[in-house]
Amino acid sequence: MSRYDVAIAGGGMIGATLAALLDDAGLRVALIDAGTLESRWAPARIDARVSAITSASKALFASLGLWSSIEARRVSPYVAMEVWDQEGSGEIRFDASDVGAATLGHIVENGAILDSLLAHLRERGRVTLLSERRVVELSPPRTSALGVSERTLTMDDGETLDASLVIGADGSHSPLRALVRIASSERPTGQRAIVASVRHLEPHRRTARQCFLPSGPLAFLPLAFGADDQHWSSIVWSADEARAQELLALDDESFAVALGGAFQQRLGAIESITQRLDFPLVQRHAERYVAPSFALVGDAAHSLHPLAGQGANLGLMDVAVLAEELARAARRGAPLGDTRVLARYARRRRLDNATMLRLMDAFRVGFGSRQPLIRLVRNLGLTRVDRCRPLKRLLIRQALGERFDLPSRIDRHLNIA
Ligand SMILES: Cc1cc2nc3c(=O)[nH]c(=O)nc-3n(C[C@H](O)[C@H](O)[C@H](O)COP(=O)(O)OP(=O)(O)OC[C@H]3O[C@@H](n4cnc5c(N)ncnc54)[C@H](O)[C@@H]3O)c2cc1C
Repeated sequence: MSRYDVAIAGGGMIGATLAALLDDAGLRVALIDAGTLESRWAPARIDARVSAITSASKALFASLGLWSSIEARRVSPYVAMEVWDQEGSGEIRFDASDVGAATLGHIVENGAILDSLLAHLRERGRVTLLSERRVVELSPPRTSALGVSERTLTMDDGETLDASLVIGADGSHSPLRALVRIASSERPTGQRAIVASVRHLEPHRRTARQCFLPSGPLAFLPLAFGADDQHWSSIVWSADEARAQELLALDDESFAVALGGAFQQRLGAIESITQRLDFPLVQRHAERYVAPSFALVGDAAHSLHPLAGQGANLGLMDVAVLAEELARAARRGAPLGDTRVLARYARRRRLDNATMLRLMDAFRVGFGSRQPLIRLVRNLGLTRVDRCRPLKRLLIRQALGERFDLPSRIDRHLNIA
């Protein structure tokens, strides 16, 4: 049987980033994933899954020396964002120049991030990568021969390992959260997100756009792809279940016409479209993030509607804070699975995540409403915010990922004027 300081179940973007951070802190780490830990990203095609990455998340990757390798694969900076209501006159525009920043963020393919992380972990050669292994059992915490709390984890091939701390980074449905019996509050949104990459007639001018339709928000995220760099976008079309099923049943040509129409032809005709993927949208928040020798991070702790593009960014902040607390504990010689150490992580992250979950709910309900009064208020709201420069600057700084309690490695690499 092998023994580790930390065993991470789930090698998605969040679990793999945590592995790199803990390796950097000199801890002995195992990263286990039910799927493959081999890269599947290829430069010639766009990964259907992309994330709008904030400056704070970029700073976290930079602190690991990883941003340049993500950039070398492909990143798409955006300098402005437009949000409007299809049924009204309300519209708002944010510009990076409003806060003296060069960009508002970057659209990055999830595969490009994961590819860079896995190459980094392989190159350093210290983290044990256990691919295509599903964690199926987790023992209760016990005190080891060395007098520290630890757990034994069992994989589906029968292999076991001991760790002072086990991390559930295993996504929204989190089998580990269930194994530790941590309940979560769940709010189905009744919506499904359709994602694809599309080529459009007009250039996107490095602007992210989101239109609120009565059935849900539709986002066009600008991609730096193709010879001209300005004619491809990644779309996230969130719609109530019935409308989503109708859209999924359309052939590509009819879908492209429906998409162009819903987006009010802001980028002209849709000329081509890649394969569509779809995801049910559920908002979920774990009632606790930690237990003795156990912690949840990323979507396993919280999953939210993608309308503000925050899920991965919040998960990256979770692992940055957790790694900071664990490195501090290791320097003091404190046990990594100690609930006092883990509780500090939970305290520092819970409010930020809960606030964002509530905000997403309010947006979804407010913009989904067909009531004339609510429509009037939201249109007035958008226009008022658009005219109020201090409030706009505050919102931009939030969207850039600036927070009051950022881990010091992010603070050091944040370069916002
Ligand atoms: C349509 C859409 C658009 C989005 N856009 C954005 C955006 O613009 N910006 C943003 O910040 N976020 C965005 N998000 C959210 C973001 O994609 C997620 O927050 C993020 O991918 C979560 O990563 P994770 O590593 O926590 O979980 P996952 O990516 O779900 O990874 C979990 C991993 O755990 C593994 N696993 C599961 N069970 C086990 C087990 N028993 N044993 C071992 N391994 C296991 C799985 O194989 C998987 O690799 C979006 C989400 C959606 C659905």
